[in-house]
Amino acid sequence: MSSLQPVRGTHDLLPETARRHRAVIDIARRVAECYGYQEIATPIFEFSEVFKRTLGDTSDIVTKEMYSFTDRGGEQLTLRPEATAGVARALISGGLSQQLPLKFFCHGPMFRYERPQKGRLRQFHQIDVELLGVAQPLGDIEVIALGAQILRELGVYDRVVLELNTLGDTESRQAYRAVLVDYFKAHRDRLSEDSLGRLERNPLRILDSKDEGDRRLVAEAPLFTDFLNDASRDFFAAVTAGLESLGIPYKLNPRLVRGLDYYCHTAFEFTTEALGAQGTVMAGGRYDGLVAMMGGPATPGIGWAAGIERLAMLLAAETPAIRPIAVIPVGAAEEAAALRLTESLRRAGITVDLGYGGNLGKRMKRANRMNASAAVILGEDEQARGVAAVRDLDSGEQEEVPLNALRDHLARYR
Ligand code: ATP
Ligand code: MG
Repeated sequence: MSSLQPVRGTHDLLPETARRHRAVIDIARRVAECYGYQEIATPIFEFSEVFKRTLGDTSDIVTKEMYSFTDRGGEQLTLRPEATAGVARALISGGLSQQLPLKFFCHGPMFRYERPQKGRLRQFHQIDVELLGVAQPLGDIEVIALGAQILRELGVYDRVVLELNTLGDTESRQAYRAVLVDYFKAHRDRLSEDSLGRLERNPLRILDSKDEGDRRLVAEAPLFTDFLNDASRDFFAAVTAGLESLGIPYKLNPRLVRGLDYYCHTAFEFTTEALGAQGTVMAGGRYDGLVAMMGGPATPGIGWAAGIERLAMLLAAETPAIRPIAVIPVGAAEEAAALRLTESLRRAGITVDLGYGGNLGKRMKRANRMNASAAVILGEDEQARGVAAVRDLDSGEQEEVPLNALRDHLARYR
């Protein structure tokens, strides 16, 4: 019954995976807060125009990856494929432009109709940071440093490489674009069909093509670096100098471009060899044209997004569940007292497991299956004396603890 399968390219976050995802989000949020980035959340769907206009008519996302639908009111809507456009829309519609610069952190599901494979899903999740209203290279340096620090705190920094490039300012891009069009036109017989279409509308995108033939051609294409004007060169030099002063190593990759239309100057990716073909874990760049392109006031911006699934796969350690305290009534007569005790401990913030039935043996088994750190055993005799037997389930040692001292006693198991 296909309707009982998850939709192709989607997956359930069962507890073990959900814990890994949460660990990534919690660490990222905490580090982002250290850098002054505040959490926001935008809707999971937007008017399709928000993405069409900003990502560009020729981008992979707009041409073949968007989940778009008409709602019951006739509106054309799209499940967000990425976060930046929604954040920029929120800046404009929320009238936040007066408060620039603004620093945002967000996370959540994204949707792209892609061919599912390891590390590539149709519903996936991202953490994302955006810095709006900062035109200086200091902004680029800060968001990259923030990304690096999150990767460090996640314990994956030693397995990633920061690849860096510049796309220059508008003038440089126009100069390069002209050279690039000439080059590809001279070799148009070797271009893929997709890239032939890109040739007139967005030749830079050919640099990002995944087609093998295109890639061979791209390998010999003129380099962007040779067509940067002085201003773009200076900007990039300031970014690299800043990274060096912070001890953040990088590898220049003159072939690195971002898939979307609105990028300029700094483009970067943290990549790993540990995940096979889907090796980019965090990707970002400067998007000074985006907010104006949407109809808002000209606002420089820079940010990145990282795939949580890919980061979670890189995490070395398991993310263990909290070990509960098991409360175990010896007989039916103690069940009511066990329920009250359980509730009072839970209200005190202690994670407590209380089985729903069964004899002492069954309940002890359950405590072990739940990986409980201790069992609080309530028997008739103990109850009469106002105590409980507390058994340390790792050492097997057992002692009597007065009920009114139980909460303090259990603190050692946190
Ligand atoms: P790719 O070249 O792999 O298609 P992209 O340029 O489309 O990547 P971005 O839009 O930059 O990717 O997204 C940022 C990050 O989000 C990626 O580096 C990756 O970690 C993650 N990501 C993107 N698409 C997917 C997907 N379909 N499934 C899982 N993670 C994804
Ligand atoms: Mg993609």
